[in-house]
Amino acid sequence: MTVILAGDTIAAILRRAPVEQLEARMLIGHVTQLSRVQLITNAERVLNAAEAQQLATLFARRMAGEPMAYLLGEREFYGLSFQVSPAVLIPRPDTELLVELALQRLPQQGRVLDMGTGSGAIAIAIAHARPDAVVTALDVSEAALAVASANAHRHKARVECLRSDWFAALDGRQFDLIVSNPPYIVAGDRHLSEGDLRFEPIDALSDHADGLSALRIISEHAADHLSDDGWLLMEHGYDQAAAVRGLLAENGFGEVQSWRDLAQIERVSGGKKSRA
Ligand code: GLN
Repeated sequence: MTVILAGDTIAAILRRAPVEQLEARMLIGHVTQLSRVQLITNAERVLNAAEAQQLATLFARRMAGEPMAYLLGEREFYGLSFQVSPAVLIPRPDTELLVELALQRLPQQGRVLDMGTGSGAIAIAIAHARPDAVVTALDVSEAALAVASANAHRHKARVECLRSDWFAALDGRQFDLIVSNPPYIVAGDRHLSEGDLRFEPIDALSDHADGLSALRIISEHAADHLSDDGWLLMEHGYDQAAAVRGLLAENGFGEVQSWRDLAQIERVSGGKKSRA
């Protein structure tokens, strides 16, 4: 293990950092509260004992595979910085597609529901881009809702945070748009034991079943909570687009379609509530 000592300069630590240079810079910046540019102009600044200790711990945790976002306590999504903790999934760039599609379909003063909000990234990105929107974010996890509330506060976004097991606490409430990035990884999928996913909350990643159970529940009940012509948009796994289009069609949605993410993978599917 690399020893980081009080009195070491930033330049010296970077030369023998045990993690990638970019990550080392980010972690040193986190510990010293210096920006990327300040790290360069302060290359001869020395670390004090507390900083050296903290940095050594962060390097060790990173080498053990912990995601950078959890070490830094934040991740950027849709141009905003979100607080994250192991209670929530780390926001993915792929999910920005869901935000784009939602914004394109949101009427003036539209009511939006984000189901399984986690860090609140989707709901808050929408509320931030469209201050006229009335946004509700729900999650079954109290710990996740605390993170979502903190993020809403951080971005002065008007988002109602509601504890609910999917539709359970919604009573008869109606929305103009429902979005969700639910747990959709199949139980036992090898990806769950690889990379960042090992450190993320399993209940946010997997339905512990065929991967479609949350997508199925949302598809079956969303229309009861949508206004006429309201859209349901759901993120899903790389091989689930056809199955999710099937769920939407079975449940009476029209204009059912899928959209591709940056990697050209069908990542979001949706449909419009057809008038009865
Ligand atoms: N997109 C995530 C992944 O595969 C999973 C997110 C989710 O289950 N909703 O890494």
